[in-house]
Amino acid sequence: MSEDIFDLIIIGGGPAGLTAGMYASRARLNCVLFEKMMPGGQVLFTDVIENFPGFSKPIKGPDLIKEIVEQAKRSGLKIVNEGTLKISHTSQNGHNFIIECDSKKRYKTLSLIIAAGAVWKKLGVQGEENLIGKGVSYCATCDGPFFKGRDVIVVGGGDRALEESLFLSKFTNSVKLVHRRDQFRAVKELQERVFENEKITPIYDSVITEVGGRNSVEFVKVTNTKTKKVEIVSCGAIFIFIGIDPNSATVKGLVNIDEKGFVIVDKEMKTSQEGIYACGDIIKKDLYQIVTAVGEGATAAFNAQRYIEGLKNKVF
Ligand code: NAP
Repeated sequence: MSEDIFDLIIIGGGPAGLTAGMYASRARLNCVLFEKMMPGGQVLFTDVIENFPGFSKPIKGPDLIKEIVEQAKRSGLKIVNEGTLKISHTSQNGHNFIIECDSKKRYKTLSLIIAAGAVWKKLGVQGEENLIGKGVSYCATCDGPFFKGRDVIVVGGGDRALEESLFLSKFTNSVKLVHRRDQFRAVKELQERVFENEKITPIYDSVITEVGGRNSVEFVKVTNTKTKKVEIVSCGAIFIFIGIDPNSATVKGLVNIDEKGFVIVDKEMKTSQEGIYACGDIIKKDLYQIVTAVGEGATAAFNAQRYIEGLKNKVF
């Protein structure tokens, strides 16, 4: 076999991809991981992680990633700074996929693990797009410190909205937590801490209908979904945490995805295309956590290994 055909290419360097890479490298597969930015994915932008087993004290997101990257590299994983443009299936030279990258390089592989993660969802309201980076933010760890002593808005009712409200409350003057229903979906422990925090005020049954300001965010319009009353609330920033959109554009048409773009996998992390596995935030599942992502990464690598071994036994 030509040396430029990899056994396995992993796309995406978050916890799922890095764990898959660690398992594949330990299995001595000829494997490489492509990450277009820095390895870490969304965890890099998370202040602290409190529910990853093995750490009795909260660990900073970037610190956890540093450990996972070092562990994966120690197992022999090669991480290459590449963004993926196109993936094609070809039956030349056995079961192959060809990956075309941003760098214009082309790579051939017998199998793939798609761990490209997800991006944060936008509200899609007037003023949001224009004021991104000027008070509209999707990352409290990155942008929160710019709003020391200011009044800020957080949108959402999941784990991220509540976690980031707690983080922002450490240095902002006040946090108004706007949620579209009258109950949060976040884990109860986070809810208890939010309710105890005097700087955080929940605003239920409400949605943001406009973000306003000349050069930066100055106010938001908050509409009560029951009474339809609109209130203009002054603020210096709005932090939006309303879920995720999967980064599945490059695999659309190649593997089955659901109506929201999440990749459909079975319990072995197999997609509808033989030889392609997927794991982490890009897949359709019930629980989007670091702890589930790493388990899926290990499962994907294990099954990719079995697939590659089967293929080689058949081909050679
Ligand atoms: P999420 O759990 O999907 O929650 C999204 C929240 O935003 C929900 O409360 C939802 O309201 C609300 N929402 C959705 N669309 C909206 C819209 N258009 N306008 C207003 N509100 C809207 O998402 P997340 O909290 O952003 O977290 C993303 C994922 O990361 C989650 O699956 C979460 O579990 C995971 N996460 C993991 C960790 C960890 O592993 N340690 C930490 C944080 C987050 P409804 O409740 O009414 O649907």
